[in-house]
Amino acid sequence: MNNFDTFLSQLGATESGGVLSPLDLSTTFHRNADGSYNDELVYIRNDNPNRRQLEQALAFLEGGTDAFAFASAQAATLAILHLLPAQSHVIIPDDGYFGVGALLSEVFPESLLFSKVDMTDLKQVEMAIKPQTRMIWVETPSNPQLKITDLGEIGKICARHKILFVVDNTLSTPLLQQPFRYGADLILHSLTKYLNGHSDVLGGMVVLREKTDLQERMKMLQKIGGGVLSPFSAWMTLRGMRTLALRLRKHCENASLLANYLSTHPQIERVLYPGLSGHLEHEIAKKQMTDFGGLLSICVKGGAEAAMKVQAQTKCFVRATSLGGTESLIEHRASVEIGTQTPQNLLRLSVGLEDVQDLIDDLRQALQQLDA
Ligand SMILES: *Cc1c(COP(=O)(O)O)cnc(C)c1O
Repeated sequence: MNNFDTFLSQLGATESGGVLSPLDLSTTFHRNADGSYNDELVYIRNDNPNRRQLEQALAFLEGGTDAFAFASAQAATLAILHLLPAQSHVIIPDDGYFGVGALLSEVFPESLLFSKVDMTDLKQVEMAIKPQTRMIWVETPSNPQLKITDLGEIGKICARHKILFVVDNTLSTPLLQQPFRYGADLILHSLTKYLNGHSDVLGGMVVLREKTDLQERMKMLQKIGGGVLSPFSAWMTLRGMRTLALRLRKHCENASLLANYLSTHPQIERVLYPGLSGHLEHEIAKKQMTDFGGLLSICVKGGAEAAMKVQAQTKCFVRATSLGGTESLIEHRASVEIGTQTPQNLLRLSVGLEDVQDLIDDLRQALQQLDA
């Protein structure tokens, strides 16, 4: 994304000459004597300069027309699901961020129907489509099993059946994968992960490909729904995004080296990382991603007990949930997901920016405990 830096530098402050835009915390804005507003800024929930800059940056990076920032990706997902008429049917991945299924079953149990499908199998996707199917929700790579869904093929299915195509692009960011090229209508991001990248902001974003009636409805859901991103979080996220390209390069490099090391380790049953040539959908990943990201999962020999033992012993990898920060994290996903299909021996690794040798040494010593 060669001209993103140009884009960022144009966001500089105009009044002071500072190279950064100031943080604007005003909740309300001056009204002219004739009742009009300058720059259409009225009230903080409707719009704010910092939020607007971040929205423009995401729309730019994804190649979309507009973007809407929310207080979290879950708030953004809630708004997306509110686009659907009652009794709509939604197809979601069988492996993916568990919060989408949780919203569908806990918040919309009466009004929306959904099916969970293994989206690596396109026949299953076709077969799950009903007359009232209005949305296919894709997460690729998926989390925590790192399955890859063919975006181009899902795009064709959605176009054929006139179904809204939503992609959660959190794991890849627009720098590694561009879902609009494959016909996605809406892209979701958790800013909380790689985009901000420093484990200190909660936020979400919806990006729209085209100017359709969805644009006004998203704006309404943001402004009237009120689950908006704060100016400070927007400002912080733009700060984080200034190093996104650099960080991602290192996340990908570290994850790839670690995946290669782990795939030959005798205590590991399976390494799930789309960059490995042995990954089931490696060829699709190569086609639609420019690199394979910083997240990987390992299945440890010896079941849940062995997995718990390994995560208990890491010193460099921090035991914590979430992903996309500078620090490496390790997590036993099955014990935090409700009604999970995640293998009991799976550990998810969010590979950070440390020296990769430290990370390899850390996992080596933790896995050694299994020999004891
Ligand atoms: C974390 C995450 C979310 C939810 O993000 P929040 O900002 O915590 O609401 C959604 N999708 C993916 C892929 C995630 O990793």
